[in-house]
Amino acid sequence: MAPNPFRVLIVRGFWSPPQAGSASSWPWPTSFCRAVFQGSNGWSVRDYWLRSTFGLLNLQFDVEGGAAGLNLEGLDANHFAHRRAEAIDAVRDRARAEGINVDGYHGFIALTNPPPSNAGADRNRALFDQHGFLEFYQHEVGHVLGFQHAFGPDRGDPGQETVYEDDYCIMGFTGPMGFTIPTPPEAASVVTPLPGNFWQSGRRLAAANLHRTYPAEFSPWVGHVVMNQTTFVVGSSSVAELGSQLPVLAVLTLPGGAQVTAEYRVPTVDDRGVTPPAVVVHSIGLRNLGLRDDGRPWDEVDPIYFEGTLQPRVGAQLTIVAGVTLRVVSTEFPGTYLGPKPPVVQLRFV
Ligand SMILES: [Zn+2]
Repeated sequence: MAPNPFRVLIVRGFWSPPQAGSASSWPWPTSFCRAVFQGSNGWSVRDYWLRSTFGLLNLQFDVEGGAAGLNLEGLDANHFAHRRAEAIDAVRDRARAEGINVDGYHGFIALTNPPPSNAGADRNRALFDQHGFLEFYQHEVGHVLGFQHAFGPDRGDPGQETVYEDDYCIMGFTGPMGFTIPTPPEAASVVTPLPGNFWQSGRRLAAANLHRTYPAEFSPWVGHVVMNQTTFVVGSSSVAELGSQLPVLAVLTLPGGAQVTAEYRVPTVDDRGVTPPAVVVHSIGLRNLGLRDDGRPWDEVDPIYFEGTLQPRVGAQLTIVAGVTLRVVSTEFPGTYLGPKPPVVQLRFV
């Protein structure tokens, strides 16, 4: 079960002396750190994840360490610059020694300054610095929440990797379908070391990834179907906006247990960069991921795998495997609905 709220402690700290080659970087005001992660402002990491999970994952960030962050004096910044997990441990231990309660949280983030660092996630923990930007934080906090990378057919050199190859999930590559939000007034005077990039925000989490990771919690939004049965799904970003429990993900379970899923992505809210609108198909447990470039197997277990898209028009179809084709049979909302009709497609596996 997902904890509610999902509590994450952020401890700020500064390396003293800083690591060799570090950037010049004044510490962000604590109010800005809170706005970025916790603010009810529409653009915070918390608000992003509330929308992406239909309100299921309610992050609560506590920001500790004071205005400049904890003085990490005595810790060798050059040593920790390349060691993510060790750096997280060191900041947590220093926080505990300074009397900060670091226990009882579901996740932990060390936000260190100056950049750069070996920034990224380590299970339900992460190391961040002020070279981060919204979409980077959104993806890495996704790991803290338990989400694995999205996979898909490799688009690079033959034999290369399948990880991240999904333009329709925040847990894929960073950048596709993203957009820049206007700099909020409360941040106008804050220096973000990557000017112009900090306000890049990402597309939604694929509904298939939410279903894969939190199936019980997400079940009210899932329509399980069998072959030749028609179902409808509503544009997922629209449903997140409406706050309604309408079906957003059709799920077909194949003999043997693998699943094929379909959701409807329309260009609004976090998906405003998703053009054109598309019915997006994923599989879970169907594909062989291959090996990493270093020859080792992936850590991920049955991650979502991008299968392709269909245009939202009657007759569009996509064959996923022999004997399993997804077809759009209507774009009309079935039955009656109070208020403006949300975007919808009726689908059938044939
Ligand atoms: Zn990642």
